Amino acid sequence: MENSMKLEIPSKSQNESFARFVVASFASQLDPTIEELADIKTAVSEAVTNAIIHGYENTQGTVIIKCKIENNKLEVIVEDKGKGIKDIEKAKEPFYTSKPELERSGMGFTVMETFMDELEIESTPEKGTIVKMVK
Ligand code: ATP
Ligand code: MG
Repeated sequence: MENSMKLEIPSKSQNESFARFVVASFASQLDPTIEELADIKTAVSEAVTNAIIHGYENTQGTVIIKCKIENNKLEVIVEDKGKGIKDIEKAKEPFYTSKPELERSGMGFTVMETFMDELEIESTPEKGTIVKMVK
């Protein structure tokens, strides 16, 4: 069974839980376990929160979420056209955050990597970021 969807939402913090909910209901077609669904929700939350607070730095922008089911796997892409990431390897390090003043723990990418089977980050400064996850 193949299926796909695309969701575009303004970068508002109240849309983070909406995005998580939509992706979880899309993913439920795969008959995931409760644990798998919880992992997907957590990873999506982290990626969408990053797009809102880092990509757009809480200014108005659009977060694009694309999901695809193929070969019994879920692919989730979270995209922003915000400020981008200069050093992706550094950004992925556990506990690295560019916003310690906001009491971020710097664990978002580590959580995505741990809870999903694959994580790919593409980013261009001033153009935006694409986070692709597979489970
Ligand atoms: P936490 O997720 O634990 O609250 P955090 O968001 O700082 O803290 P990560 O999610 O691991 O930690 O992200 C690490 C760093 O990568 C961020 O501090 C930020 O500098 C950068 N980053 C992540 N996502 C984006 C994005 N969409 N656009 C621009 N920069 C990003
Ligand atoms: Mg984060």
